[in-house]
Amino acid sequence: MIISDYHIHSDFSGDSVEKLEKIINRAKELELKEIAITDHMDLDIIDGKNGLNFILDLDTYIPKLQELKERHKKQLEIKIGMEFGIQKHLGKKAKEIIEKYPFDFIISSVHSVDRLLLDQNTFWEDKSRDEAHEKYFFEILKSIESYNNFCVQGHLDFITRYGALDKKGFIDYIKYSDIIDEIFKKLIVKNKGIEINTSGIRYMENRFYPSDKLIKRYFELGGEIITIGSDSHKASDIGKDFKRAYDFLQSIGVRYISSFDSMEASFKKIK
Ligand SMILES: [Zn+2]
Ligand SMILES: [Zn+2]
Repeated sequence: MIISDYHIHSDFSGDSVEKLEKIINRAKELELKEIAITDHMDLDIIDGKNGLNFILDLDTYIPKLQELKERHKKQLEIKIGMEFGIQKHLGKKAKEIIEKYPFDFIISSVHSVDRLLLDQNTFWEDKSRDEAHEKYFFEILKSIESYNNFCVQGHLDFITRYGALDKKGFIDYIKYSDIIDEIFKKLIVKNKGIEINTSGIRYMENRFYPSDKLIKRYFELGGEIITIGSDSHKASDIGKDFKRAYDFLQSIGVRYISSFDSMEASFKKIK
């Protein structure tokens, strides 16, 4: 039984054409209790993403979600969310934007470093794999220090998805264990969570983002807040591989996942 999906993109995101109505119908079909719509907002990127627009039109987006939230509230809780593409220099800007609107839930995701998107060659061409990974984790750490207006850190180690063939698909976790621990400790002190992003399975990496051992480490260090999200850009991916995520959490002794209202966490028991 899937409880909720906390990472869903609609056609408000530059890289999705899925209609919100179709997303809601699919969530009802799956008998989900809650969904969070988390469309992309990525500011200050050089070149953009193949010409796609990653600036979210909040003055249209928020009223639309408010209307749908009200209309469907008896059958499905719809959370007003956003996936904010954070960079370490954007904390102040992020705070201004997020505090202006009635968000339930914000995913903080590092999609770019030094204003370069991780899926573009320009970021990778002058770096070894390790240099790129080090920069990426450092950016996450510094961005967490730069603001408080988020709920969970998105797809923590998804950088394995990118880079040329000799650079993708592997992270030297031992090498980065100190900085990853620092990231978790910072999140925990700030009362922030992580997400289990199930898209890694669809991206043929056969794992969650972050990987099992990192999820386990977050809880070992005292973390308590976790959401599960499909990162779906089409309705048919909603709730995919959640059974595997619940089974994994239970296998490490985690019994609860988080829900968010007005950016405040509460807990739901995994059945
Ligand atoms: Zn993302
Ligand atoms: Zn996403």
